[in-house]
Amino acid sequence: MKSATRVLVTGAGGFIGHHLVKRLKADGYWVRGVDIKEPEFEPSPADEFELLDLRFWHNALQASNHVEQIYNLAADMGGIGYITASLADIARNNVLINAHMLEAARLQGARRFLFSSSACVYAGYRQNEADVAPLQEEDAFPADPEPGYGWEKLFTEQLCRYYRKDFGFETRIVRFHNVYGPLGTYDGGKEKAPAAICRKVAMAHNNDDIEVWGDGSQTRSFMWITDCVEGLVRLMASDYPEPLNLGTEELVTINGLVDLVCEIAGKTLVKRHDTSKPQGVRGRNSDNSRLRRVLGWEPKTQLREGLATTYPWIEQQLRKAGRLTEALEYAAY
Ligand code: NAD
Repeated sequence: MKSATRVLVTGAGGFIGHHLVKRLKADGYWVRGVDIKEPEFEPSPADEFELLDLRFWHNALQASNHVEQIYNLAADMGGIGYITASLADIARNNVLINAHMLEAARLQGARRFLFSSSACVYAGYRQNEADVAPLQEEDAFPADPEPGYGWEKLFTEQLCRYYRKDFGFETRIVRFHNVYGPLGTYDGGKEKAPAAICRKVAMAHNNDDIEVWGDGSQTRSFMWITDCVEGLVRLMASDYPEPLNLGTEELVTINGLVDLVCEIAGKTLVKRHDTSKPQGVRGRNSDNSRLRRVLGWEPKTQLREGLATTYPWIEQQLRKAGRLTEALEYAAY
């Protein structure tokens, strides 16, 4: 029966989108992937893969033609350095993608539309302590989200609600907390903290120092990619239309994250903190109470377990690219 269900994944050339396409194909769905680029590390198994810029209306219409479910993951995004560097571009690009995709999906008769929001919608004033109270879904208001990227996500969450209220259009809203795993960007400025730290550790020699953004006492929780995809599929199948956290409650400091990666790599390194670099909010954790209630499930993979797979994958990519040898030669001087 599933093969008869036609699904669109936007952002299918990206990290989460590519993993989601693999999962949906394995489950027997017919899948169209859309992005402005192909997946970076392996070909997409999608039945159709179209290169389309979804900031443009005609492309959004083409992408959403003749599908029943839409996972809208396309976004101009990256780690904290990237999303704080160009607020206007990011907010504009994403508002165009999301407004066009919602309307195109409705006009084309899609039955369900899942919007990928972010923990960046949460109010900054609730995230000033490293020992942060886990964030419940209500904590996005009164609004004080991350500038640019977070404001756009919060606005599109509201737009999804308006579409549901005015048109009866079935929307689902997921609020991801940092996702990590293999096949994700690990370099170039768009990578997130776990990938950046794995790269720095892989390229360092024992007793070298590595740069850590901020004082390292800032806290986060991190979700393993397979859990993320499982949550997405479950949320799409559910009847729950309000925003829902999807993350773990395993809070860790960035220093703790570095220590974990060093342990996995078998290296002793010195942390060189650069407090001039952006570190984002001081503390952020997910409260999964509603997730457990709504889906009867939550991500279970421990950070140590997920990093034990992610680190070797990044190390292998660097080796393939000849960058570990380069690092060795450089360190010899
Ligand atoms: P990603 O950058 O790997 O994937 C996003 C994809 O969208 C990219 O492949 C990009 O090329 C594509 N895209 C950008 N502009 C486009 C356009 N104009 N038209 C078509 N495609 C376009 O990011 P990801 O980590 O896979 O994130 C997927 C979604 O989840 C995004 O909406 C993101 O905001 C959200 N999210 C991710 C995280 C995380 O930790 N990874 C956290 C919170 C929210």
